[in-house]
Amino acid sequence: MFRPVSSKLDLPQLEERVLHWWKENKIFEQSVENRKGGPRFTLYEGPPTANGSPGIHHVLSRIFKDIIPRHRAMKGYYTPRIGGWDTHGLPVELEVERELGISTKPQIEEYGIDKFNARCRESVFRYLKDWNALTERIAYWCDLEHPYVTMENDYIETTWWAIKQMWDKGLVYLGYKTAAHCPRCGTSLSSHEVALGYEDNVEDPSVYIKFKTQLSTGREDEVSQRLSQLALSRDTYLLAWTTTPWTLPGNTALAVAADAEYAVVEADNEYLILADALREQMGLGDNKVVMKVEGSYLAGAEYEPLFNPHEFGVERRRFQSGAELLPQKPDQNLTYRVIATDFVSMEDGTGIVHVAPAFGEVDFEAGKEQGLDFVQQVDLQGNITGNYSFSGKFVKDADPLIIDDLKSRGLLYRSETIRHTYPFCWRCSTPLLYYVKESWYIKTTAVKDRLISGNNEINWYPEHIKYGRFGDWLENNVDWAFSRERYWGTPLPIWRCESCDYRECIGGVDDLKGKPGFNGLKEPLDLHRPYVDDMTYDCPQCGATMRRVPEVIDCWFDSGAMPVSQVHYPFENETLLEDGRFPADYICEAVDQTRGWFYSLHAISTLLFSRPCFLNCICLGHILDAKGEKMSKAKGNVIEPSAVIDKYGADALRWYFFTSSPPGNVRRFSVDMVSEVTRRFLLTLWNTYSFFVNYANIDRFTPGMEGVLSHSELDHWIISELNQLVADVDNGLEHYDPNGAGRKIEGFVDDLSNWYVRRSRRRFWKSENDADKLAAYTTLYQCLVTLTKLLAPFIPFVAEEMYRNLVCSAFPDQPASVHLADFPVADMDKVDRHLADDIRLIMRVSSLGRAARSEAGIKVRQPLSRLLVKVASERHKRALKHLAPQVLEEVNVKALEVVDDMPVTKHKDWPLASEGDVMVMLDTDITLELAAEGMAREIVRRLQMMRRSAGFEIADHIATCYQGDEYIRSVMADFTDYIKQETLSEQLVDGAPEEGAYTEKFKLEGHELLIGVKKLN
Ligand SMILES: [Zn+2]
Ligand SMILES: [Zn+2]
Repeated sequence: MFRPVSSKLDLPQLEERVLHWWKENKIFEQSVENRKGGPRFTLYEGPPTANGSPGIHHVLSRIFKDIIPRHRAMKGYYTPRIGGWDTHGLPVELEVERELGISTKPQIEEYGIDKFNARCRESVFRYLKDWNALTERIAYWCDLEHPYVTMENDYIETTWWAIKQMWDKGLVYLGYKTAAHCPRCGTSLSSHEVALGYEDNVEDPSVYIKFKTQLSTGREDEVSQRLSQLALSRDTYLLAWTTTPWTLPGNTALAVAADAEYAVVEADNEYLILADALREQMGLGDNKVVMKVEGSYLAGAEYEPLFNPHEFGVERRRFQSGAELLPQKPDQNLTYRVIATDFVSMEDGTGIVHVAPAFGEVDFEAGKEQGLDFVQQVDLQGNITGNYSFSGKFVKDADPLIIDDLKSRGLLYRSETIRHTYPFCWRCSTPLLYYVKESWYIKTTAVKDRLISGNNEINWYPEHIKYGRFGDWLENNVDWAFSRERYWGTPLPIWRCESCDYRECIGGVDDLKGKPGFNGLKEPLDLHRPYVDDMTYDCPQCGATMRRVPEVIDCWFDSGAMPVSQVHYPFENETLLEDGRFPADYICEAVDQTRGWFYSLHAISTLLFSRPCFLNCICLGHILDAKGEKMSKAKGNVIEPSAVIDKYGADALRWYFFTSSPPGNVRRFSVDMVSEVTRRFLLTLWNTYSFFVNYANIDRFTPGMEGVLSHSELDHWIISELNQLVADVDNGLEHYDPNGAGRKIEGFVDDLSNWYVRRSRRRFWKSENDADKLAAYTTLYQCLVTLTKLLAPFIPFVAEEMYRNLVCSAFPDQPASVHLADFPVADMDKVDRHLADDIRLIMRVSSLGRAARSEAGIKVRQPLSRLLVKVASERHKRALKHLAPQVLEEVNVKALEVVDDMPVTKHKDWPLASEGDVMVMLDTDITLELAAEGMAREIVRRLQMMRRSAGFEIADHIATCYQGDEYIRSVMADFTDYIKQETLSEQLVDGAPEEGAYTEKFKLEGHELLIGVKKLN
């Protein structure tokens, strides 16, 4: 006997019960250990940060991480899964700053780095309990008791080792380069971090500035002479455009395109110079053109600075031999010059580009190449230095003041605003500044070819990521600016001599301790700042003190080093590269990680081992709310995972996420959608299961009695479909397609419930336990048991509950949990494609027939005389003739006629329905006999409803009495056997209801009818 199953499914309660049982019996641990010795399957956990509570998108990535290893474990793979936590970085620091009510680096240093970092350390696991609880609740199976943690000494030591490997290959360098700088966080961002924070539609000033010029180049050709003559006759200005007025005091050059044509136009008694092609766009199309020249004639022309830095107490330096900058003497008559470059756009602006080498990559490169002046009048907090009228202001606040200043001096041509895309700090939303400063770099461009070729070895899901988002990113690779001028992070392991500037990279704790004159170690060892900053040793070159540089590293380097750092390689686990733990078979995160973790993993592994470190990657789309908007606390449209899980259960949420859309798609999410999934799929499955259990118990069916059975065609068909399903689901999960696999299961469960079970109802219903009934039970049992195993990776709770009742109660020697069972293997000999195709045809014809009925407004219970069917192929014609009885029952018609053409003239009112190459027409003429039969069926339906209303069990036999007119009595008499059989009525008596009977009165087609039913003992 199976445990009785209620048709009501309380999923959250069921799940809590299963969770408890898993824990008690260590099912996860067993599912790993039992497969020891099998081939290894490795998942890398992308470590979340536990200093915020987990959201619905974390559920999405965690269940996708879960499903594939579950499948592999059932397939016999040894697949330990290790959790991990990302603990360093700015987000943690920001949180602590907020708590302390401080916001600048000097405030942190005043507070004390030791105390500050201690608070960071405390805060990183603040939400650990929530994370662990949610992880367990959604059945993401991974080892949370022994996770890797990026702030542990061993982890840091391996990260140091990794950097040392790169250092030894000459791939770590100190660059003087343009970096995207967050003035609030006071640190550089790597290019992949910058990519995370672009915002569209940002409003900025758009100003056109006049730079006064004499057009003197010192050249003596005719054109140059004419130009300087013009400039002598009237005030002459070069017109340039910028969206960052705050960079204008740093202007030290104007760039033109050598081969473009420029025009000198007359405007308000002045001459303005701009690209001829952009005159129209600038509203100067109708002005008189005094002269046209090629850009090359403008190159070298001197112009007056907008702001002479010496007048405002700002240092002027000049590029000397590459990136070196030499201070310049004050010069009251300072001029800058026009340069010719290849980066001038003729699409927008004026064709003359303002160049400020301190504030932009292109500008910096131009400065290096052309030996330009360098003026950096902004500090690292983003405030203007010097003694301008706008000094002390944050750059964006200085913009309007600078515009006013230029306007008052007649140097502003036009001022507008523009909406464009601008990068913001992805952590704190402060606008980023491109700023030239010193930073440590990893020369990833040195291995660019291998980064690209390694990507060929990775399977991406969806596939377009490979040569799209990720491939593009690699093609445009730039060196990794990986140092951060911050506090809570893995310290950059580079020591520098205070005296001779000699530098060394340290690759491990023993390496450091073994240095001559090593000093400053405090026990217990903590490799973080400030303790590591106290560790010094003697310079091997000059004997002076070697001190660590102040920077920490990008926390994306931490997480990208997890393949080695999580196992303390090579200090331990020396066999890492050979024992199946590297590379990972599988990783999965959201699409924003292409430039985050996916990239840092790939880059570090390529730099260390010249190999990709993951072979398969599911790249998940983002989750939006039901209206398609981003979820955010500010908008109040965030859906808490617990709100969904407590109401509908984790399996409902899992099933929804797996089957609603392919993993790479952007998803719209609402609680209603989960409820819909529950109704459509989970309840259909559950009802089929509870139907089986309850009937099997009534009939005392015991599984395992197969062998003597003659299966019906219906049984053959569902077993064929089942085996095809096993093959499809296995293949889908093998190829990282839970969505495709899940949808196949959905289709099968629908067929099972709405075709197989429905069409077999009579077989379960009849009173004798014959071979046919046994075959039906055996077949349905096999389908359900196989389903539990196919479903185990998807909805582990429901699958477990069903499996334990269906299997463990009957076969105590079978694995105690579905998750310890083997994944089913398809028996392709049992797959009959022709039969499947035929039944599909019958289903389609039946559904068209029902559609034709509803079009004519005739209810299904009313039998009709015939259905005319037209199909295209001979094979389908034969199949229809052979399988006609099923259609007759489904559509409730007496005959099926296969026709070559529909009769069009005579029966205009007969409804038609068609789909593809199948067309049906329904003969809707109702004879007296058909009407009587329809009445009999209606009476049966009413009786069945009465049985339920009266609270009878499905197997209860009853006595039925009725009272009605002549017509009713004749129908009852003609269909006595049928009515009795369908309603389990032992007696069907014309007369008043017995004492204590449950009675109801109806009016059917104008005939009154009283019925009484009573349960028999
Ligand atoms: Zn920031
Ligand atoms: Zn030295």
